Amino acid sequence: MKRSKTYLVWVLILVACFATWIMLKSARTNKTVGIQPLGSFPQVQIDSIQSAIQTQYGYQVVVLPKRELPENCFVQIKSPRYRADKLLKYLKSIRPDSIDFMLGLTATDISTTKKDKLGRIKQPKSKYEDWGIFGLGYRPGSACVVSSYRLSKPNKTIERLQKVVVHELGHNLGLKHCTSKLNCVMDDAAETIRTVDAGHITLCDKCKNVLD
Ligand SMILES: [Zn+2]
Ligand SMILES: [Zn+2]
Repeated sequence: MKRSKTYLVWVLILVACFATWIMLKSARTNKTVGIQPLGSFPQVQIDSIQSAIQTQYGYQVVVLPKRELPENCFVQIKSPRYRADKLLKYLKSIRPDSIDFMLGLTATDISTTKKDKLGRIKQPKSKYEDWGIFGLGYRPGSACVVSSYRLSKPNKTIERLQKVVVHELGHNLGLKHCTSKLNCVMDDAAETIRTVDAGHITLCDKCKNVLD
């Protein structure tokens, strides 16, 4: 009799552990990403990005009604651009409560200031103070922004967009640049589109384990 009670306690503990694991797992996969088109953005590209997020992260994706690019993010230092850091602030300010991560999509050029490890503007300053980028997402964060401006190439644009979106969302989720040398989607693009083209759209096992 005593033995069967002990057995029952162990079964209950196991069931409780399993239920907790399921709950934690679904808490992670029940996240919602809100795609926010900023200005005109082709529907076919939005659809492909939506499916890439669902495939790579298993998150729900909601496409929000288009908004115009906010004028206070505009700069003309080297050429007409929108500052990515300011766009992130804007995206956070309009994030509905039901959305965990905001993804801004624009066809216009976006830029940021490139800094070194000590937080100083990289030299030469004239080159790096307003540096055109593919996308930006802080680690961790609740918003990222991706521009198709520097990704456009016949038959390549959509794949590049998907990879850059998965990369920037990865930063929001807490992932650093990957050093596994496996062409992981979290590899540092290191200022060139070649890294994006050579890389996979998937996270390597090491990066996946960080998220699990
Ligand atoms: Zn990155
Ligand atoms: Zn990786």
